[in-house]
Amino acid sequence: MSKNPSTSTYDHPGTIASIPELCIFCKIITEKEGLIYEDEDVYVLNDKFPVSQVHLLVIPKRHIKNSYHLRNTDKDLVQKMIEVGSKIARDMNLENYRLGFHRALVISVPHLHMHVISLPFTSIIKQKLLFNWFLFTDAQNILNSLL
Ligand SMILES: [Zn+2]
Ligand SMILES: [Zn+2]
Repeated sequence: MSKNPSTSTYDHPGTIASIPELCIFCKIITEKEGLIYEDEDVYVLNDKFPVSQVHLLVIPKRHIKNSYHLRNTDKDLVQKMIEVGSKIARDMNLENYRLGFHRALVISVPHLHMHVISLPFTSIIKQKLLFNWFLFTDAQNILNSLL
């Protein structure tokens, strides 16, 4: 993870409104597609390709490419993503769930997002392809790496 403050780690910093055509998630946020929850920092919607009964995405409104592009100053944002994801999971009475991020090996939407996945998985194939330990890491690990 780059800790060099002189290196821009964002593809296009600033507000999302000017660039929705560049990114499917920025577009979704702008058009309020499938909105489950939003505040000034994050947007929550259902994953289009669920792997379990409840499968949500918590997306920062700021365009950040992926978890490898997070800086130490994004600690509060990641903390908030975890809090929002946990709160929604609790509100939905999920007893067992996982919060996590893709590792860079996975080809995914190039806008940071945290998956909220109720357990057990309903698709073992997708679990193996996308959400095994090698390709998916717990959100807390990402947060810890920023502390
Ligand atoms: Zn974006
Ligand atoms: Zn994803």
